[in-house]
Amino acid sequence: MAKSSDKCSFCGRSRIEAEVLIAGINGNICQDCVEQAQIILSEERSIKKPERSKELKLMKPAEIKKYLDQYVIGQEEAKRILAVAVYNHYKRISQGTFKNGNNDDVEIEKSNIIMVGETGTGKTLLARSIAKMLHVPFAIADATVLTEAGYVGEDVESILVRLLQASDYDIKMAEKGIVFIDEIDKIARKSDNPSITRDVSGEGVQQALLKLLEGSVVNVPPQGGRKHPEQKMIQINTENILFIAGGAFDGVEKIIASRMRANVIGYSKNKDQVEIDKNNLMQYIAPPDLKKYGLIPEIVGRLPVVTFLSPLDKIALKRILLEPKNALVKQFSKLFEMDNIKLTFADEALDLIVDKAVEFKLGARGLRSIIEAILNDAMFELPSKKSVKELDITVEYVNEKLIKNPVTRLKVA
Ligand code: ADP
Repeated sequence: MAKSSDKCSFCGRSRIEAEVLIAGINGNICQDCVEQAQIILSEERSIKKPERSKELKLMKPAEIKKYLDQYVIGQEEAKRILAVAVYNHYKRISQGTFKNGNNDDVEIEKSNIIMVGETGTGKTLLARSIAKMLHVPFAIADATVLTEAGYVGEDVESILVRLLQASDYDIKMAEKGIVFIDEIDKIARKSDNPSITRDVSGEGVQQALLKLLEGSVVNVPPQGGRKHPEQKMIQINTENILFIAGGAFDGVEKIIASRMRANVIGYSKNKDQVEIDKNNLMQYIAPPDLKKYGLIPEIVGRLPVVTFLSPLDKIALKRILLEPKNALVKQFSKLFEMDNIKLTFADEALDLIVDKAVEFKLGARGLRSIIEAILNDAMFELPSKKSVKELDITVEYVNEKLIKNPVTRLKVA
């Protein structure tokens, strides 16, 4: 036991000042210093923790697609293209592990991706599922809140702050992460002709974003917020960060159509020409269309993999209700099961839910709000009614509950 005259050998506090003083062979340590040491230790351990990338299993593109199939309905083309891009990303980030002796100095460049498709078609879901599969940090950024440095809004570096937070400040992990930049179409410049007038909301942000996409070492304020001179910065190399951009690109079909018309005229004599599906022009999206829409050529060049997501039809919406691993019907059945209630849906009731989602123009995003509205009364009342063991959702039940819930309320959801 330490004597009252003893001091902490680390901070010099006396036995009286320190609540507890633990005696060692040649010195003592107080309670505060033990706690401090504990913090330092856990920080050290987190820095040295084994790289999560070592747990990476190199999945083949077909396996990646199969994984995505569990969560994302339809969108076959997008899934195939993403699977290949992700497979290559896998290879790139595990390059060290794959050294085969013949140092050929071939560096695999990453291929950032851009997904074009209406809102609610699964762009974020795809990006999120990929990050989950890879066990790499994942961050979502909304391009509409970004501004170029010096203007009101977020600096592009804030994207990396989020990635850093998602990786528990493990810089090495963050540098292998995936960033999903949503609504990239909203920072398109207003016309295809670069004008002398500066376009703060569009081109300036694109230029700032370009710095991240190009692969450079970026100074990031660890706590986020604006950079200021006294703040200690963390340097993040974005070379291996996979950027996936997404946007609805409203009206891009017109650009695609006019490009294709031009091509068609040029090759009008070619009988082998593939017929154009005018009802789904989005499938022909190509980099020049994005440029024409208002993305600067440098950004288009840094997003070489272009893919599209189709609008979801009723069949797809119904499948979304039932099939994904965490399908809504499965989720709600589980919630009721926890109260020992068997929840079932009549097939026609599911069709009606889908019809309502389409009618209210809510798409897949609206399915949840509609089901919530339908089941709310039951979720409120049944847990207290021990006698009820089953609940079958019929067309009548859906109609009855939806009358009580004005469409306007659902639309806001
Ligand atoms: P986007 O990013 O294209 O606007 P989201 O990925 O955020 O759309 O989709 C919104 C919600 O709709 C998702 O959380 C998911 O529940 C559902 N959803 C959308 N598309 C699909 C799909 N293809 N397969 C399964 N669920 C989907």
